[in-house]
Amino acid sequence: MLQAITSWKRMKIKLCDLSRRQRRYLDLAARIAQQSTHACQNHGCVLVKGGSVLNASCNKNNYCDFGSRFRDYGKKMYSTVHAELGAVLGLDRSITSGSVAYVVRVKGDKYRMSKPCPMCEQALRFCGVKKVVYTTNDDSVIVEKL
Ligand SMILES: [Zn+2]
Repeated sequence: MLQAITSWKRMKIKLCDLSRRQRRYLDLAARIAQQSTHACQNHGCVLVKGGSVLNASCNKNNYCDFGSRFRDYGKKMYSTVHAELGAVLGLDRSITSGSVAYVVRVKGDKYRMSKPCPMCEQALRFCGVKKVVYTTNDDSVIVEKL
């Protein structure tokens, strides 16, 4: 029985079943996400460890023209700093290891699917982040062990 409890990798939880503290982290991440300057993807990430917020970041749409000169296809590629990367950048690994990342994407005042992309997932794993909590389209979050 204990084995069954501890061996989960990914778990879906309704928003109303989260603790008040967890919902506050999501609210904070949503407020950070509102500040994103990206045209359609507003992500926010809050890094939490031991009940305190280590860092928070939204995705930043820093246009980078450098890469486009090597590409023929679609000259509208934008280089952005993803929210998850922004949250771990500049922090020592001893600080980030063992923390939990709350990732939120907002559209209007609704949560939308915000699964970290493979790049961010690897980066978070490398920084020792143990869990990531991200929003989905249907009023629930997914808690995933990295
Ligand atoms: Zn990403």
